[in-house]
Amino acid sequence: MQAMLLEKPADLTVERNPLTKAAVPDPVPAEGEILLKVSACGVCHTELDEIEGRTPPPSFPVIPGHQVVGTVVGRGRDAGIFQTGDRVGVGWVYSSCGTCEFCRNGRDNLCPEFKATGRDADGGYAPLMTVPEDSAFKIPAVFSNSEAAPLLCAGAIGYRSLGLTGIRNGQRLGLTGFGASAHLVLKMVRHRYPDTEIFVFARSEREQAFAKELGAVWAGATEDMAPTKLHAIIDTTPVWKPVVEAMKNLESGGRLVINAIRKESIDKQYLLDLDYPTHLWMEKEIKSVANVARTDISEFLDLAARIPIKPEFQEFPLEEANRALLELKERKIRGAKVLRMA
Ligand SMILES: [Zn+2]
Ligand SMILES: [Zn+2]
Repeated sequence: MQAMLLEKPADLTVERNPLTKAAVPDPVPAEGEILLKVSACGVCHTELDEIEGRTPPPSFPVIPGHQVVGTVVGRGRDAGIFQTGDRVGVGWVYSSCGTCEFCRNGRDNLCPEFKATGRDADGGYAPLMTVPEDSAFKIPAVFSNSEAAPLLCAGAIGYRSLGLTGIRNGQRLGLTGFGASAHLVLKMVRHRYPDTEIFVFARSEREQAFAKELGAVWAGATEDMAPTKLHAIIDTTPVWKPVVEAMKNLESGGRLVINAIRKESIDKQYLLDLDYPTHLWMEKEIKSVANVARTDISEFLDLAARIPIKPEFQEFPLEEANRALLELKERKIRGAKVLRMA
């Protein structure tokens, strides 16, 4: 098959085509695995972290992509959950040990043996992929392939982040950064917590306008003061300034949830602006989000189908994965980006 391969780490400011289209052998499902014919694969900011070496793949080459929608076209020995022809999705969780303290308690996202799709194992920037069948999820019929793909990471991790805020209906929520995940959180909150007002901090006026279009009561720049203090804020940005700026907008006892696998170090000096009384005192908290548990994906898919929550998305052919990644790097964003297979 012809897949998009990451052969080595790359600096995207100079290397504009980090992925190479190349012929690789078709994958064969091992015991307990299924073979998927990929229909769509979402493009995630985490791919940039892999390419630029902040969370590098343990070996090269690797096929990236961890928001995969496909049809089951083959099954390995002892794989019996799905039938040939079923439409399934795969997210960031590729495998975990299944026996550690975390796995036994539904926190497989924290498993020390956690393996990620498209980083530790080949992912969905390809016409075919294999996956352990217990890491695949049936896709509700209400979604098209391209609608479903961004739900598998942007949506599922947004769901996990929202849960970690501990917010209740009527409390005020902030979102700093307004990409694929945040726009799905906004849609989710409007249905789950109808009395919760949402405040969005975004760099570009285009993103601010998009947030208001989707129902945010207020949208401003990263460093702005919101008109009122917020009970929780979710940060989906790759940098540090929004973290510090968000803390000053938190209500006493409020919590900032950082939904990012890695932060870039370009503006790390901003952390020196952290002022204890302004940003941390009054029992404010910071919590990170790590990976995604299988239950996040299955619960979110159910919820998204019931509401329904559908992402805004732009499609690209598989061959144009590099262009999609560059646009993401350059923050040319409106909703999610999805690679669509022919
Ligand atoms: Zn992702
Ligand atoms: Zn484990």
